[in-house]
Amino acid sequence: AAAGGGEASTGSFDIGLPGAEEGKVVTRFPPEPSGYLHIGHAKAALLNQYFADMYKGKLIVRFDDTNPSKEKDEFVENILKDIADLGLRYDRLTYTSDYFPQLLELGDKMIRAGLMYADDTPVEQMREQRGKGEESACRGRSVEENLRIWEEMKAGSEVGLTNAMRFKIDMKSVNGTMRDPVAFRCNQTHHWRTGHKYKVYPTYDCACPFVDAVEGVTHALRTSEYKDREEQYYWILSAYQKLWPGLPNVHIWDYSRLNFVNTVLSKRKLTWFVDTGRVESWNDPRMPTVQGILRRGMQIEALKEFILSQGASKNVTYQEWDKIWTINKKLIDPVCPRHTAVEEAGKVLLTLEDGPAEPEVVTMPRHKKHAPAGLKAVTRSRQLWLDQADAASLAEGEEVTLMDWGNAVVKTITRDAAGAVTALSGHLNLAGDVKKTRLKLTWLAHAPACELLPLSLVDFDYLITKKKVEEDDNFQDLVNPTTRFEKAALGDPNMRTLQKGEVLQLERKGYFVVDEPYRGPGRPIVLFAIPDGRAKSQ
Ligand code: ATP
Ligand code: MG
Ligand code: MG
Repeated sequence: AAAGGGEASTGSFDIGLPGAEEGKVVTRFPPEPSGYLHIGHAKAALLNQYFADMYKGKLIVRFDDTNPSKEKDEFVENILKDIADLGLRYDRLTYTSDYFPQLLELGDKMIRAGLMYADDTPVEQMREQRGKGEESACRGRSVEENLRIWEEMKAGSEVGLTNAMRFKIDMKSVNGTMRDPVAFRCNQTHHWRTGHKYKVYPTYDCACPFVDAVEGVTHALRTSEYKDREEQYYWILSAYQKLWPGLPNVHIWDYSRLNFVNTVLSKRKLTWFVDTGRVESWNDPRMPTVQGILRRGMQIEALKEFILSQGASKNVTYQEWDKIWTINKKLIDPVCPRHTAVEEAGKVLLTLEDGPAEPEVVTMPRHKKHAPAGLKAVTRSRQLWLDQADAASLAEGEEVTLMDWGNAVVKTITRDAAGAVTALSGHLNLAGDVKKTRLKLTWLAHAPACELLPLSLVDFDYLITKKKVEEDDNFQDLVNPTTRFEKAALGDPNMRTLQKGEVLQLERKGYFVVDEPYRGPGRPIVLFAIPDGRAKSQ
């Protein structure tokens, strides 16, 4: 079977893996523990799961922990949480660091075979030489000299520290990744798992082909921007196979990287947002991390559906956030409970002349078409709070509908000098036809027995102002200065029992997720607005 290219019209990865046999496929998801998982990683994880399932094979989750300077326990713990939240089912959990002894042994064999050499050319100069295809003066070092320096590197000595061990491939190759890439470099930093045991660490290029093969990975999925590295991967793997009998082959299969508009998806850049305090943490609702978008009200099912609808296209495209939030809305709308809120700023009292002298409490479903959402108590009283925006749109004599109650007629509208409505009066017309009114108003009782709850309604904007961030953009120039918007409101008393993470609709205001539930008087319930996929006017 051919890997094929082009667009899959109907989503789903209906293109198979080359040389795949049922029951024998092994895929792997190899996160580096240098940040939390983002939505691009979720694609990689779910795609590996998809193919493992399709061929009744196995999935390995591997912590690719070869760079102690970037990695820490916090990231390992949170990636494990993200993997669990994504519902990933894996057969083995492994660590590249478990293979350090074997990789060092392999380094030894490669040097003896004349396939690696130690180079102390300064980093800048080395980069320049690689660009020009010029050989380093160290390329001709003898096996003995390389072995001697290798020992210095493993010991982390002064001489060792100035050297890097490079593959001896081809400095003249048109493919830049073939120009003697670095295989091992020294690092004195504490490694999150092996501590100070090692002073020299393999690069990704050096470790990945070996670990893939030795773990029996049959298909290594990589994003298509690694296409150039395919030749290098196969060169390195076949060199190892000659020195390490029995190392099997690995197929590389590439897929397109997931990008989103107004978003950076790179741990280096996301780390910057965390470290500079522009967001609270990795799980900030503005972050494109798995934890961030779940905290913003994304349902796991919506995330999965979106990713699997991507298809096997190898074209790198920028996805619209609206698309994934639309999928999410379709899942939450049919089930999430309805509640009522009135904005604090400019809220207006409507006095109903014939309203009930004593407040009446009626029971209503929390979702009219979904009984499992339960019931809520609605208090009807003589005085009702309305939103300023609604009050300002009324006309004297107009008949309106009070939601979950019936019609009323507006009698007087009192305004201040600036034109804002300060008070309304009217009377009920419960025999009136609710289908004939222009406005269906949300309202809350103003009565001593009806304790309204303070709410903080929080909405967010993109962290990045530019729609399509390109490779040569400096993302720090594109940072949106204001991305968090907060409004005080009052909520109906039923909201007291909402739990953290629960999703609800505030009638006529939109969908929200509870970030801080009710915590006692004086402390607002914090609700985050969930985008619903429709472009909003902010
Ligand atoms: P980042 O740039 O975010 O650090 P990375 O590739 O360096 O990404 P890894 O932890 O090494 O981070 O990635 C784990 C896996 O996720 C790899 O297989 C990688 O190719 C894949 N991956 C990373 N970013 C994306 C993305 N935007 N779309 C699809 N797959 C991705
Ligand atoms: Mg990586
Ligand atoms: Mg990266």
